[in-house]
Amino acid sequence: MRKIWMLTATCVMAAGFAGHAAFAQNAEAEAAAARASAAAAAARGNAKVSPNDPLEKICRIGPRSREVEIQKLEPFKVFDNLYHVGPCYVSSWILTTPQGDIMFDTAQEPFVDMIQANIRKIGVDPHDIKYIIINHGHIDHFGGAKRMQEFTGARVLATPEDWKMIEAFAGKPNNRDGNKPTEVPKHDMDVREGDHLDIGDQHLIFHTAPGHTPGNLFVEGLALHDGGQTWRGIWGGGGLGAPGLAGAEQGVKNAEKLNAVKGIQVYIQTHAWEDPNGALGGGIHEREKKLANRKPGDPNPFVDPANWELRAKRQLERAKQVLAQEQAKAGATGAN
Ligand SMILES: [Zn+2]
Repeated sequence: MRKIWMLTATCVMAAGFAGHAAFAQNAEAEAAAARASAAAAAARGNAKVSPNDPLEKICRIGPRSREVEIQKLEPFKVFDNLYHVGPCYVSSWILTTPQGDIMFDTAQEPFVDMIQANIRKIGVDPHDIKYIIINHGHIDHFGGAKRMQEFTGARVLATPEDWKMIEAFAGKPNNRDGNKPTEVPKHDMDVREGDHLDIGDQHLIFHTAPGHTPGNLFVEGLALHDGGQTWRGIWGGGGLGAPGLAGAEQGVKNAEKLNAVKGIQVYIQTHAWEDPNGALGGGIHEREKKLANRKPGDPNPFVDPANWELRAKRQLERAKQVLAQEQAKAGATGAN
């Protein structure tokens, strides 16, 4: 295990993260943000969606986002060593290497049977999957992890902060599976800022971007092969910080960290869409359609460095705007 799993010194970055304490500093702002996000979710839930809308919208908006059969997808190959095996709402990916494979996110029930069937359809032996990486501790990302761990025998990786969230979710109702109690994986491997995972030709580097959850991850270093070419990928994009001033300060740090990762050519999204206005240059399924119509010699539509750069730049701009607003609020109330 230690041979391929190298835990590097990470204290410098980790010391900057205040963990749970940072997320409880402004209870009022947190409650307001929770209300706003619940209202937005309710508005999305009631929105009308036509069957002709792009799959990204159908995956996410309106009652159809809760319709199990609509969420089910056939697997598809994106690169010679990367497959999409998940449902429409949240993406599960399999990255293959000659020394063992990596799964990114497990989605949740009732999609695990479909994911397992998809893994067989792409010709991957479940026992070749050695690692399952959980982006963050929300059920749409980890809900399938317990069964996927049993199916593959893989190690399950998440940040210690988000392991706490995952374990605390045991027995809680699964909103996409008739509110059945959720089974969670046992706390397995921890990953922290700067940790490396080296397996086969993959040299992954983990980064934390606290905000959406205390231990939200993004991972750089994916080597994605397409014909004779290799492209550099990133999985997940972090996000803004938690509500309140401390969260906004963290949000700027997250965005700066994301912008410090240079040379990204492929953005592997955790969801088919991207807030606030859809993924730049198209989400997963728009690009999938282009890929299906690709002619010999055409570029792979998932290779899109310009849109990634723009996305990273905009995230920093947004994070700075949020920070300015929080600073103004803090100034107005005399709080610090
Ligand atoms: Zn989430």
